Amino acid sequence: MDISRLPSFRLDGKVALVTGGSKGIGFAMACALAAHGAHVVIASRNMADLQKAAAEITGQGFSCSWVQADVTDKENVQRMVDCVIGQHGRLDILVNNAGMNIRKPLIDIEEDDWDRVLNTNLKGIFLVGQAAAKQMIKQQYGKIINISSIFGGVGMPFQTSYAASKGGINQLTKVWANELAPYNINVNAIAPAYIRTPMTSAWLQDEERYRNIVNSTMLNRVGEPEDVAGPVVFLASDAANYITGHILYVDGGWTAK
Ligand code: NDP
Repeated sequence: MDISRLPSFRLDGKVALVTGGSKGIGFAMACALAAHGAHVVIASRNMADLQKAAAEITGQGFSCSWVQADVTDKENVQRMVDCVIGQHGRLDILVNNAGMNIRKPLIDIEEDDWDRVLNTNLKGIFLVGQAAAKQMIKQQYGKIINISSIFGGVGMPFQTSYAASKGGINQLTKVWANELAPYNINVNAIAPAYIRTPMTSAWLQDEERYRNIVNSTMLNRVGEPEDVAGPVVFLASDAANYITGHILYVDGGWTAK
């Protein structure tokens, strides 16, 4: 075996788009992709957050730019993808990450709660994935990584809309993997358990809940955004060329318990 020709984890020359890249898990994944050589475009709604996040990455000598977009809006999404292609000529890696949660007991969920969560987490993933796939098909190359959750596979009280959206992500990941394989496009999902981010920090402040979460986790701690960095680089890289349609749990062992 010629060791120098083994597939690399490096992403030099690749162009990556990370939705929800201004904060939390998205920001950590953007940092990791940039650190491995990709030019990373981060996207979300708040411009000040985007500027700050991009400056933190470029300030450390890595390549990053930003585009403002709301993933629930089809025109915004097309403009975002057109902007990436216009500036960089291609789109190699999509990290379909933007998401939100509204945790409520089933009987208290308003129709608007359901619509907001499903529009962001499922319709948003669909719109961005569709726009990116059109470009990746032309290139005959692409890596799509959808950010799911353990709640796409396991049940938990108060997660009706969120779990429904993440279960949907798992399924569309498998459908897209089948459909896009002929074009050399790999489609996978990452399904984290609890990760400490702006989305979960208030929820994790309840001591009893926090203890229960840690007790459900083999590795005996809540995850940090950096815990998702290695998995996303792996799936984005040519080291994962023979992996598609896979849901990679990044959960400290939660779902194997
Ligand atoms: P954060 O709330 O920390 O960050 C969410 C990011 O998404 C922000 O950049 C936000 O920016 C952006 N965003 C939200 N709505 C939209 C929208 N409509 N259009 C564009 N961007 C949007 O969340 P996390 O980092 O915790 O979560 C990231 C992903 O990981 C989500 O899909 C989440 O479901 C998933 N996940 C999180 C877990 C956790 O424990 N934290 C566990 C499992 C999965 P802005 O508001 O400015 O638009």
